[in-house]
Formats: sequence, structure tokens, C-alpha cells
Amino acid sequence: MTVSSVLVVGGGIAGVSTVAELRKRGFVGDLTLLSADAFPYDRPPLSKEYLSGAKDLDSIALQAPEWYAEQRIDLLADALVEALDPDAGTVVLSDGRELSADRIVLATGGGSLWPDVERVVRELLDRPPAGMGIPRSTTGIHTLRSAEDADALRGVLLPGARLLVAGAGLIGAEVASTARKLGCEVVLVDPADPPIAAAVGTQVAKWLHSLHAVHGVETVTSTVEKLESTRAGVVAHIAGAASPRTFDAVLLAVGMVPDTTLAKAAGLEVDNGVVVDDQQVTSHPKVLAVGDCARRRGHRREEHWEAALLDGQRAAATILGIDAHAETAPWFWTDRYDLHVEVVGEMHEPDAEHETVVRGTLGEPPFAVFTLHGERLIGAVAVDDPAAAKAARRLIDRTADVRASDLADPTKSLRTLLRR
Ligand SMILES: Cc1cc2nc3c(=O)[nH]c(=O)nc-3n(C[C@H](O)[C@H](O)[C@H](O)COP(=O)(O)OP(=O)(O)OC[C@H]3O[C@@H](n4cnc5c(N)ncnc54)[C@H](O)[C@@H]3O)c2cc1C
Repeated sequence: MTVSSVLVVGGGIAGVSTVAELRKRGFVGDLTLLSADAFPYDRPPLSKEYLSGAKDLDSIALQAPEWYAEQRIDLLADALVEALDPDAGTVVLSDGRELSADRIVLATGGGSLWPDVERVVRELLDRPPAGMGIPRSTTGIHTLRSAEDADALRGVLLPGARLLVAGAGLIGAEVASTARKLGCEVVLVDPADPPIAAAVGTQVAKWLHSLHAVHGVETVTSTVEKLESTRAGVVAHIAGAASPRTFDAVLLAVGMVPDTTLAKAAGLEVDNGVVVDDQQVTSHPKVLAVGDCARRRGHRREEHWEAALLDGQRAAATILGIDAHAETAPWFWTDRYDLHVEVVGEMHEPDAEHETVVRGTLGEPPFAVFTLHGERLIGAVAVDDPAAAKAARRLIDRTADVRASDLADPTKSLRTLLRR
């Protein structure tokens, strides 16, 4: 059946990438993008330039306002979808409007994970009525997923403010770095030592974590067990600490949960994300899912910007019945303390089959660390060295054999290894 209309739910990078790719590759039918926000904006700056105030909301828009009309994309802003009927190919908005299309793409992203401490907080807050959530401004406890979240957090990141960050993953570390720039006193708590070792390998993870102390952040290897909102601030009980400590604000940065509400209610298969096949099609042939809300069957769920973008491109190809772009090694970046870190492929700890190779000097950017499986490059972390990340990705994609000595030699251009 020819597809003559597509409706995309969610205006993050995955949703915008889907509609952009559909037009780019020749789709001439009706295209509707439903955004719960005032306009589609980018999320990575929320812990970086937007949080520091270096960028405003307009400057993190995913597309210029006129782009949607130029591309004949019907952008419905402040449009929250409340129900999905896959068989009928319809969605119902919170204002009661019903829209239909031949294909529906779910690009609903996710929300911040609330750890167990939430329950404690809720009990202490005069027991707000169920479903009302926790008003950020009154509790001093924050999460970070939307521009509103970032606005609320920025409002308290004043010079001298005491900030507790629970979770030293990518977002927690970025916020700690931004908050220090803004002159805050920061305590960063995480039970992992070092955090993010699985993503970047233990060597790099240790060095990255040590940068917090260098920049005046107190790191604590522990867990936040309990939070109490009091007039004096948020009182945090950190496991193993002699006494509770008081902060002006707390950021819970302990992970995200995919938003699968619509899919679940519609009876689609959901298992740690909306389950999709390699073409991004869900368990219902008329519905596709992309980005942070989706998980490809047999793969782990990705939570990175480029993975969401590529999902959108793949979904567009599926809808058009054309070939998707070739698969490429996963890539993401993170920024902290004015350092730019890129990660490609999969890092692995050294063992009988895996070797770690350092190019340059670890801890003295620019440098890169590689994981070799035999003579195959499978992963790389590049700090302030985008060219190394790019070359490493090509080497991984080509499954080319490389010598550890060549990778380690900074006088040898990685590009020449590609030509072999
Ligand atoms: C603070 C922060 C920093 C990050 N930094 C990096 C980074 O440095 N590098 C990196 O690679 N990745 C980073 N990421 C991750 C990256 O931003 C996400 O992977 C990416 O945003 C996922 O895109 P998405 O479109 O799937 O979801 P989202 O960006 O979450 O967008 C989903 C959209 O759908 C909307 N929506 C949800 N439900 C409905 C509904 N029922 N009706 C209508 N609309 C709905 C939501 O409001 C939202 O606008 C960061 C994420 C955050 C939060």
C-alpha cells in the first residue's frame, strides 16, 4: 500500500529527523509533527550551554521556525497525544482532536528516572494528591530532561549555592561541571568507582572522574538514601556519612526511563522501550518507534543523540520502502570542564582477547584510547581529538585489521591506516 500520510508523535531529534529524512528522500504526502513543547528543541545543551546561560531556547531549536512550512510539515505545537489506536491509524490529543494517518511514528523520548528516594520525598511533602507530581520550586529536588527542568535548575545555580548531584553519569558530570563554572559548591555522589567505566573503559573513566576534584567538586562514592525538604534546604542522608548534609538544591541524575505510555496502552510490545525490528517497525505494522523511547529487538536500548537521529532516518526509509543508510558504529559525545569526549563502538577491559592502546598520553589531551579485539579495532575514546574519533569509526565500520603499534604512534596518521 502506498503511504500518503505520516504522523510523528514527539518533537525531539528522533521525530524531527524522521520528518526531515522523509522529505529529503522524496515523500510527497501529508506530514504532521506533534510536539508537546512550544517548538522542537535540542536536549544535549540543557546540561551544558543552555544551563550555563550561554545559549537561549531559540538558539537550541532543532530547525528554524520557517523550515516546517518550507518542508510542508504541519507542526502542531503544545500538542500532547493521549491515545493511540494502531488498527484505526489514529491518535487523540489532550484537547480532544483526533488525527489519522497511514503510518504513525512514536518518538516520545523518555523521562528522568526517579530513584527510591522519591518515595521518601513524597511522604514528607504534606502528601500531595496522587498524580500531581512534586513541585520543583518547593522541594529543591530537580531532574533534567526538558528546558523547563533546566530553567528551574538554573534558577538555583547561583554563586555559592550548595548543589548535590546524585549520579555521576554523563548528565550528572556535565551539570557538576556547569555548576562549578557558575560558582556553585558541588558534591557529586555515585556508588560506582569510577562511574561510566562500561562506556569509556576503566582507565579513561578514572581520569575523567578525577577531574571533578581538580575543579573543586567533592566526589563521594556512596548512595543518597534519603532526602528531606526543609526550610533550610534539602537535607540529604548519604550512606556511610556521619551526619546528614544540607543543600540548596539536589539534582537526581540517575538515569532515564523510555516513555512507552502510548504504546503500552495501545497493546504494542514493550520491553525496556517500545520493541521494534531492524526497520523500526513495532509489533503493529502501521506504527513505528524511534529514538530514546524505542529498543531494537536483540539490541540494548540507546540513549544518545545520534542513535535517535539515525533511528529517524531508518524509519523514513522503511516508510518509503527504500534502502536505509548503511549501519555504522555507535557514537556519542559528552563535554565536561571544557573537554570534548567522543566515544565510538564498544570499549572493553584488557583481557586475553582484548588489548587497550593509548595514542598520546592518557590525561594529557588530545589523546585517544582504543580497544582492539585481536587486530580488529572495536572501540575508541578520543578526548579533544575529533579526527581520531572519526578515523576510528571508519576503521571499525570497515572491520579493517590494524596494528596496535600503528594506533599508538601519534606520528602515524590514522587516515593512512584507512587506506590499507
Ligand atoms: C540534559 C541532557 C544532555 C544530553 N547530552 C547528550 C550528549 O552530550 N550527547 C549525546 O549523545 N546525547 C545526549 N543526550 C541524550 C539525547 O539528548 C537523547 O538521546 C535525545 O534527545 C533523544 O531524542 P528523542 O527524540 O528520542 O527524545 P526526546 O529528545 O526526549 O524528545 C521526545 C519528545 O517527545 C515529546 N513527547 C513525549 N510524549 C509525547 C506525547 N504523548 N505527545 C506529544 N509529544 C510527546 C516530549 O515532550 C519530547 O519533546 C542528553 C540528554 C539530556 C536530557
